Amino acid sequence: MQIRSVGIVGAGQMGNGIAHVFAMAGFDVLMTDISQEALDGAVALIGRNLERQVSRERITTEARDEAMARIRTTRTLTDLGPCDLIIEAATERETVKQAIFEDLLPHLKPHTILTSNTSSISITRLASRTDRPEKFMGFHFMNPVPVMQLVELIRGIATDDETYQTMLKVVDKLGKTAASAEDFPAFIVNRILMPMINEAVYTLYEGVGNVRSIDESLKLGANHPMGPLELADFIGLDTCLAIMNVLHDGLADTKYRPCPLLTKYVEAGWLGRKTGRGFYDYRGESPVPTR
Ligand code: NAD
Repeated sequence: MQIRSVGIVGAGQMGNGIAHVFAMAGFDVLMTDISQEALDGAVALIGRNLERQVSRERITTEARDEAMARIRTTRTLTDLGPCDLIIEAATERETVKQAIFEDLLPHLKPHTILTSNTSSISITRLASRTDRPEKFMGFHFMNPVPVMQLVELIRGIATDDETYQTMLKVVDKLGKTAASAEDFPAFIVNRILMPMINEAVYTLYEGVGNVRSIDESLKLGANHPMGPLELADFIGLDTCLAIMNVLHDGLADTKYRPCPLLTKYVEAGWLGRKTGRGFYDYRGESPVPTR
């Protein structure tokens, strides 16, 4: 089936990047959020990011203008009803995501494919609460979406082959690469990445190293482009904690227990870059380690 229009739920870090790449690939985009501020912020950020691409001569001013013209926003979730594809990219909380799909269902067209950008929640369980588990998939983008090449496609137990093939074509049209993952907690990338980040927080918690020495060690000693604590701040510490909890609960293995220091940062509201402070303090000119 042909996908032309895309409805994106959630205009946060991920939603704005997803809107950006879909608009650039020629899809009509309708983005919704409960916060008008988030919607306005997302459109402004997409404008700035496209402008940067123009100034680096990666895209033309016409391509930028056409992409911006393809993006519309609404505060009313049910306006997304006529879209061919829904991408849910709201807060990583199962009750939030379930409520969104429940409210949307009566307004959708029969052919509409439902997807979630969840980092860790069971696709099969989310799908089972809808009227179309065979047309439901995990569609997991990496942050920042316009830069990262990989998209994980996760089939729930009921997802049919037509839906999977349609989504493969969508990923292809975006110019990205799909990796197929089975529907087990945190899929592939986060199953491996998050325990590493959590271990870096334990290394900090136990005083083996400080923020700077841990990040330097992984950058220079393992050739990682970013240190694990810097990366955690970039992803959002609340998101990291939520994923560790899903691994811990879903796989029932103590090796996934979230570090108490990670929990403490989240309780303090120090969620990383998005709140101005996490393992680094971003409020000055350059990031300063908080430990
Ligand atoms: P975010 O906090 O930046 O944005 C979430 C947005 O959802 C907010 O603007 C919020 O207002 C909105 N929202 C909350 N409830 C809503 C509702 N009922 N209806 C509409 N909008 C609602 O979060 P994010 O980092 O963009 O993450 C979004 C999703 O993407 C999560 O499922 C997360 O696991 C996943 N994800 C995140 C990353 C990452 O690196 N941050 C990477 C891949 C996937």
